[in-house]
Amino acid sequence: MPRSLLIRDIHTLVLMDAENTVLRDAHLYIEDGEIRQVGTRPAKLPRVDRTISGRYAVAVPGMVNTHHHLYQTLTRACPAAADAELFDWLRTLYPLWARLDEESVHVAALAGMAELLLSGCTTTTDHHYLFPRGHSRLIDAEIEAARRIGIRFHPTRGSMSVGQSKGGLPPDSVVQGESRILADSERLIRQYHDPAPGSMLRIALAPCSPFSVSPELMRATAALAGRYDVRLHTHLAETRDEEAYCLNRFGKRPLDLLEDAGWLNANTWLAHGVYFNRSEVARLGRAGVGIAHCPSSNMRLGSGSAPVLALRRAGCPVGLGVDGSASNDSSHMLAEARQALLLHRLLHGAAALNVADTLRMATVEGARCLGREDIGSLEAGQRGDVALFDLRDVGYSGAGDALSALLLCAPTRVSTLVVEGRVVVEDGELKTISLDPVLARHRRLAARMQGENWRRGGDSNSRYP
Ligand SMILES: [Zn+2]
Repeated sequence: MPRSLLIRDIHTLVLMDAENTVLRDAHLYIEDGEIRQVGTRPAKLPRVDRTISGRYAVAVPGMVNTHHHLYQTLTRACPAAADAELFDWLRTLYPLWARLDEESVHVAALAGMAELLLSGCTTTTDHHYLFPRGHSRLIDAEIEAARRIGIRFHPTRGSMSVGQSKGGLPPDSVVQGESRILADSERLIRQYHDPAPGSMLRIALAPCSPFSVSPELMRATAALAGRYDVRLHTHLAETRDEEAYCLNRFGKRPLDLLEDAGWLNANTWLAHGVYFNRSEVARLGRAGVGIAHCPSSNMRLGSGSAPVLALRRAGCPVGLGVDGSASNDSSHMLAEARQALLLHRLLHGAAALNVADTLRMATVEGARCLGREDIGSLEAGQRGDVALFDLRDVGYSGAGDALSALLLCAPTRVSTLVVEGRVVVEDGELKTISLDPVLARHRRLAARMQGENWRRGGDSNSRYP
């Protein structure tokens, strides 16, 4: 692999530094995975292993996806769940997901990660919480996929321990005992977690939601995370149904439950955060809790809209999450950023959120949610994660400002993508894996998993290889 990479003559380079600097005719020099030089005047550079032209490109920091369930790419647009709200959507899909195994998780992760990379995302998390009996190595299968495809990966060891027989939402067949969950969480941290700067893989711990784990597991997970200095993640305040469940079962609002379990601190980032009231927003801001805002998923399931502007004003880092992929049903990071921009303009007016701040959520603030200071901007000293979009694309034709075009025009595929100094996408094609056979396998696995529901939707499997 080349040690040094020069991207020269970049039409528009968006640094995402504190001053929102945008450079024209710029260059970016990466060595050993780190950005060593960035600027407009070609500085004297050492011998370069590889040079790429950025003459027609707008370059932005590789985007950071802060919430996802990659396995759900196998149940996208599932007919039986197409028009349901969260609890019914989950009840419909849990039995299909009970068919997961290591191979299907691996292939689903490859498909989802490919879609993310091609949309400009260089770092993703994943929240995997469903372990059918006999299949305990599903996170390992995802990690193997991330290594093959070359994405920076923050998998979370998710968990569900309260099945229907104990008053929870998921069927008993997909929940695990709490001691087993904690032991496997510890195994994964010891086996894979790399805290070093530039790390390509960090583990976090992620009980699924208040309606599928016990408060005891939340507390024990926080203690384990503290022992190993890894981060905490969960779904919170996503729907009114969840709020009602918490009030009925525990006599508390979701955020009070979280605080009681020792989670209200800057080591935690939460998915959704739709139903926080004003005082809760202030508490979250004071604590520095990160929020993974998932506008497409929230709109798709009709859940509501997170108070994103207030959360940011309160001091929370707010990142973006594509979520899903069965509740979006996309893993397109640039499309998610556009969705966030449009949603909050719809709610608060066109001046409420600008393009640069939206892109800041998709990059720097997302990185902060994952506890990263070394990614999210294109300043010297940061890791070499860069997304280039080709301004010659038909969708950008005629655009006056390249940065605005990225979010105001229809989302496109990235032309070049660099992760840790490695060219992962070139000319709009993945270079690390051969995608077609992966997608052929993915379609077959999805058809098998969706089974009866697939056929009820009127589709036949015969059109797939
Ligand atoms: Zn989720």
